[in-house]
Amino acid sequence: MHAQNPVFIPGPTNMPDAIRRACDVATIDHRSPAFAAMLNPAIAGVKRVLNMAAGEVFVLPSTGTGGWEAAITNTLSAGDTVLAARFGMFSHRWIDMCQRHGLNVEILETPWGNGMPLDRIEAALRADTGHRIKAVLATHNETATGVRSDMAGLRAAMDSAGHPALLMVDGVSSIASMPFEFTGWGVDIAVAGSQKGFMLPAGLAILGLSPRALAAMDSATLPRTYFDLRDQQKGYAAGGYPYTPPVGLIAGLAHAVTLLEAEGQEHVHARHTRIAEGVRRAVRAWGLELCAASPDHYSDTVTAVMAPKGFDGTAVVQLAAQKYGVAFGVGLGEVAGKLFRIGHLGLMSDVMMLSGLATAEMVMADLGWPVRLGSGVAAAQEYYRATSTSALSAAA
Ligand SMILES: *Cc1c(COP(=O)(O)O)cnc(C)c1O
Repeated sequence: MHAQNPVFIPGPTNMPDAIRRACDVATIDHRSPAFAAMLNPAIAGVKRVLNMAAGEVFVLPSTGTGGWEAAITNTLSAGDTVLAARFGMFSHRWIDMCQRHGLNVEILETPWGNGMPLDRIEAALRADTGHRIKAVLATHNETATGVRSDMAGLRAAMDSAGHPALLMVDGVSSIASMPFEFTGWGVDIAVAGSQKGFMLPAGLAILGLSPRALAAMDSATLPRTYFDLRDQQKGYAAGGYPYTPPVGLIAGLAHAVTLLEAEGQEHVHARHTRIAEGVRRAVRAWGLELCAASPDHYSDTVTAVMAPKGFDGTAVVQLAAQKYGVAFGVGLGEVAGKLFRIGHLGLMSDVMMLSGLATAEMVMADLGWPVRLGSGVAAAQEYYRATSTSALSAAA
């Protein structure tokens, strides 16, 4: 028998059938009005998902990582200083990319499991009286540790320091799943990817740029060609792209926004919070710890579960795949082997999540972890019974 189980990785996510079908389009001329009719609703929809009142959205054939590259190369110049906290694999990789582009990164080393250190960021900005720092890089949801940082608080820290740096936010594993306030938080660049909250296959980098970020494109001198957003602007003005776009993914993106809005953005966020809380209750019932250091940093899209002393988190992921055909996420970088991750974003329901928790319990029992079968599932069941709504029907 071949059965496709749901995945419990923090991207790519499970995909609604309706989105898969929406991606399946016949060949059309991407320079024809038919393509513009597909593109424009997708762009307008992403603006609404970002809560963007002013600025422009760009949808590029790439992934979130390419979105980082587009963000920095379009707005910065070699030798510019950027400020970033390193507190997980994704913040680390963005820092590494900046360094490889010849940027000077002022790094605030932060224990993995903590959120962005807002007080230290504010202090660094205050100390930078000459405004050498051109951008603050933020990882809204550190997917490696299951940690959400406070973007409103970050904006407040930047304002309180009176610093004009651009605010660039990696929202790859938060946007479309957790509240995101592009304009409200004074975000200058937001980066997302198609295969996380938008529930599409991988293949699109999705960016929002504020008017200030758009203005910075004129003076920025880092080399860029394929990702030169000035060329994209010209393409969009003519209803298309300066190259051949992935038409099917763009059609799928427009449909993804339709599904998110049919469910209602607040309901999508509430569903993620509720499902995540059930997972956290399960972890507690197992007697295990989260990597996230405090409740104000709990992520609603991914939960990183610490392995008990003497046990290997990666073994859970390997055995789950081999024996049960179910995918969880491994620990990355500094936390490799120390944890495993449960992804619960995108297409996810109470019932799907319970199957993931039950599978994790079987695997942990198989590996001799001190976890009682049914304990976490029961804790999540109690929580879901008490809070369940039929909110997922719109995404079916
Ligand atoms: C997945 C992810 C990325 C990388 O995106 P790709 O689409 O894999 O290139 C970057 N940042 C965060 C926070 C992510 O979760």
